Amino acid sequence: MQPKITVVGSLNMDLIVSTPRIPGPGETVIGGGFHTAAGGKGANQAVAAARLGAQVNMIGRVGNDTYGQVQLSNLAADGVDTTFVTVDPEAHTGVALITLDEVGENSIVVSPGANWRMSTTDVEAAEATISGADMLLLQLETQPEVVTRAIELAARHNVPVVLNPAPARPVPPELLAQVTYLIPNESETALLAGQPVADLSSAQAAARKLREMGVGTVVLTLGGKGAFLVAQGQEKHVPAFAVEVVDTTAAGDAFVAGFAVAVASGQPLLEAVRFANATGGLATTRLGAQPSLPTLAEVKRLLG
Ligand code: ADP
Repeated sequence: MQPKITVVGSLNMDLIVSTPRIPGPGETVIGGGFHTAAGGKGANQAVAAARLGAQVNMIGRVGNDTYGQVQLSNLAADGVDTTFVTVDPEAHTGVALITLDEVGENSIVVSPGANWRMSTTDVEAAEATISGADMLLLQLETQPEVVTRAIELAARHNVPVVLNPAPARPVPPELLAQVTYLIPNESETALLAGQPVADLSSAQAAARKLREMGVGTVVLTLGGKGAFLVAQGQEKHVPAFAVEVVDTTAAGDAFVAGFAVAVASGQPLLEAVRFANATGGLATTRLGAQPSLPTLAEVKRLLG
C-alpha cells in the first residue's frame, strides 16, 4: 500500500558555488562552477518521500516569483500535491546561498522569505490533509508556532509525527513529548539534550536523555558513521553504506524521508533505519539537493 505522508516545511532555491575551500570571515575565494537547484528541507523531504513511492502532500509558502514557480513545478513533476503551498505576493521565495568545497563539505546561509511568513492558518486550512496522512513530517525552517500547531493537529488525529529538528534551535519539552520519531544530527542532538556528542557512547547517552524528555523514538544521524536508534526496549548503532561522497547536501533530508516512508509502510524500526541509511548515503553521491535524491529502485539496489 502506498503510504500517505504530509510535509509541513520550507521551500528554497539553492544557489550553489563550488570552491577549493570555504572562505573564512572577511575572506574572498575564487570559486569554480555555479548552479541552482530546488531545495529547502521541507521540499527536499517531500520530493525524497515521493521518489520512494509515497503519496505526498506539501504545506508551505513560496513568493510570487520565478523561483517559486520553479519550486511548484518541480514538486508537481515528482508527483507531490501542492494544493497547500500558498503563493505569497508580499515575500520572495526562500533562497539558500551554498558554498561547496572539494571534499563535499558545505556552508549555507538561508534567507527564508515566504517560508517565514507561513502561518498557523495555513496549517489549519490543511487539517483534513494532516488527519488523512499516515505520517506528518516536520523540520524547523518555519516559524515555531507553525511547527507547534501542526504537531497539535497531528496529535488530535492520532497521526504519528516525525520531527527533524533542523536547523538546530531549542524545542520546548512539551512539544518534544508529542513527537513520535525525532531525527536529529549530532549538533542538533547536543543542543536539544544539553550535553555534548563526540562519539558513539556520548551519542547514545544524549539520545537516551531525549527519550527521557518524552520523545517516543530517537534516530540520531551520524554522517558517515550511519545512525543510532534509541527506542522502547531497543538501542542500536546502524552503520552507513560505503558510498563515494560528492556532496552531502540533503543527505539528512533523504534519511528523514527514507525513515518516514519505511515506517509508514510498516517496516520494523531497525529495517527502517537501514533503509534511511541507504537513502541518505545515495544522496551524498550526487550534487545538489533535490537532483541528488534517489528513487525507490536505487535504494532497493543498494540494500541488496
Ligand atoms: P545532516 O546532513 O543533516 O547533518 P548527517 O550528516 O548525519 O545529516 O547525514 C544523514 C545521513 O546520511 C547519515 O545518517 C547517513 O545515513 C547518510 N550519510 C551522510 N554522510 C554519509 C557518508 N559519508 N557516507 C555514507 N552515508 C552518509
